[in-house]
Amino acid sequence: MTGPGVSSPSQLDARIHDAIRRCWGFETLRPLQREAIEAGLSQTDSLVVMPTGGGKSLCYQVPPLLAQRLDVVVSPLISLMKDQVDGLRACGYPAAAIHSHLTSSERHAITQGLRRGEYRLLLVSPERLMKGEFLELLEALDIGAFAVDEAHCISHWGHDFRPEYRRLAMLKERFPGTSVHAFTATATPRVRNDIIEQLRLDDPNVLVGVFDRPNLVYRVLPRTNAPLQVADVLRRHRNEAAIVYCMTRVQTEKLAASLTGQGIKAEAYHAGMEAAARGRTQDAFASESLDVVVATVAFGMGIDRSNVRCVVHATMPQSVEHYQQETGRAGRDGLEAECVLLYSGEDVFRWRSIIERNDDDEPTDEHIRTARREILWHMQNLCRGLECRHRALSRYFGQPYERDGCDACDVCLGEVQGMPDSTVTAQKILSCIARVGQSFGIGHVVRVLRGASAEQVTRWEHDRVSTFGLLRDMSDRKVTNLVYQLVDHGLLERTEGDRPLVRLNQRSIEVLRGERQVQLVDPEQGSVRKTRAATESWEGVDRELFERLRALRRRLAGERGVPAYVIFGDATLRELAHLRPTTLEVMADVRGVGSKKLADLGPVFTEAIRSFLAGRDT
Ligand code: ADP
Repeated sequence: MTGPGVSSPSQLDARIHDAIRRCWGFETLRPLQREAIEAGLSQTDSLVVMPTGGGKSLCYQVPPLLAQRLDVVVSPLISLMKDQVDGLRACGYPAAAIHSHLTSSERHAITQGLRRGEYRLLLVSPERLMKGEFLELLEALDIGAFAVDEAHCISHWGHDFRPEYRRLAMLKERFPGTSVHAFTATATPRVRNDIIEQLRLDDPNVLVGVFDRPNLVYRVLPRTNAPLQVADVLRRHRNEAAIVYCMTRVQTEKLAASLTGQGIKAEAYHAGMEAAARGRTQDAFASESLDVVVATVAFGMGIDRSNVRCVVHATMPQSVEHYQQETGRAGRDGLEAECVLLYSGEDVFRWRSIIERNDDDEPTDEHIRTARREILWHMQNLCRGLECRHRALSRYFGQPYERDGCDACDVCLGEVQGMPDSTVTAQKILSCIARVGQSFGIGHVVRVLRGASAEQVTRWEHDRVSTFGLLRDMSDRKVTNLVYQLVDHGLLERTEGDRPLVRLNQRSIEVLRGERQVQLVDPEQGSVRKTRAATESWEGVDRELFERLRALRRRLAGERGVPAYVIFGDATLRELAHLRPTTLEVMADVRGVGSKKLADLGPVFTEAIRSFLAGRDT
């Protein structure tokens, strides 16, 4: 049925494509964007689950633009709203955000603009949205649809529950004719159902995207010396954006200082810092004057830098959702990015004790506790597993992975090296534990195996046991990692409590008797290999010109007080440095260059390219 104002599918496609080309300079839609945009246009409730970087924003930005109406977006963070509004305005899209950082005259001007129908998109926080006077304003405005971003925050089964989201349940009551569209990157079925129920979505169109991010290269390395290992990874990404995640605030500060000491400029970021200092770090990162941030989970939601080339986890995150979300901040421009996780079985015990400590403060019901342990177990499994990381991640999110070999993880690239003589090494460790009477912790066992002349060793006369010094040739850290690998594989027990001991179990006995083979990973991994994609994505790109254009982008972003990616993304810069357009006509063909940006930035970029080429000729 095609009524007035309703387009046929092909007309609709043409209108959508025209809009994304004109406004954003995009040539094609990403998977599910079309379906999500259609749900917005037809005002059918929807739940869109798309991985980070999948392009959720476009799905709620396009419908009001085409339908010439005003939609409201609920967004949890002010920084996120500001960046989005800046980005949209740079494309000539009329959007506004109302939040507590506005002066009353700014707020007044936006309210007036809203009444005059000047905007297509209004961004607000859930707290503000549910205030009485704000709801009255919206009622007077004839809202087309509500989009709820980061919708998983409504579910206590998710990893980021925010009680203020719960009040959004009232939206459907208060605006019965208005459609509600939920967007999230967290995909477990339980969270999905909770969102649908809580937001009272009416027979929603549920659209679940593919979770695999083929442009991310995953590596899990045994952790032996975090500061040196992190520095090693970062040296592969000189002058590129990187985020290093740590478990605690203290760790972020220590690691940032150590990296700086190793000649890599880095700043710490965590929730314990003053808001002003946090803001400075965040702005410096967005404007590209700072490339490396060492942070706790607190860093991320508001970070929209699309050219993050590297995410390192100095410790294991507490859930696969966290891992997916944090690594998802890398390579949002679709270009290759590297994600390295430094793992030691020790992390699992640390997380367990953090979860239990939280329980003491605020007793949690048994179901939630069990769920948390399970969540942790899945993350541990991902780290100690030796199958393709892309496949393992897809499986966790309930999706098949069709490819045979991803060419984008340490396992498929053939980098993971087994430890030669694993079984013999395991026997040495286990037999040392037997010799010291199974009554000591890992630190002590490592000292004995390393043949240390420490007072604790001599006091117990452990310098006389036959296993003393058996692994003298390895470093302390390497032996420690190997002991944790045995615990990880269930070949050894580590007791709970403040002073955990290591004890043998049935499987340890089998290993000692030679009835069970062991496969350990060599903690000292070899060099990393280059992927096909890494080689191809720079093919034909003039690196020198790319750097020149990057500097120009940084200068323009600074002058305009916007994040650098608002000017152009890295993919666009690479294409410019490949095509080297010297006229606006040619530049119009470059991905990410819409008509507004062409008019605004075309002259200065083509001029820069012309002068670069002229300089090269002489
Ligand atoms: P998320 O799903 O994480 O919210 P965003 O909406 O921020 O993702 O989009 C991620 C990046 O992808 C942004 O830089 C955005 O401009 C870009 N993008 C989105 N849709 C498209 C498209 N159809 N073509 C090209 N780039 C796109």
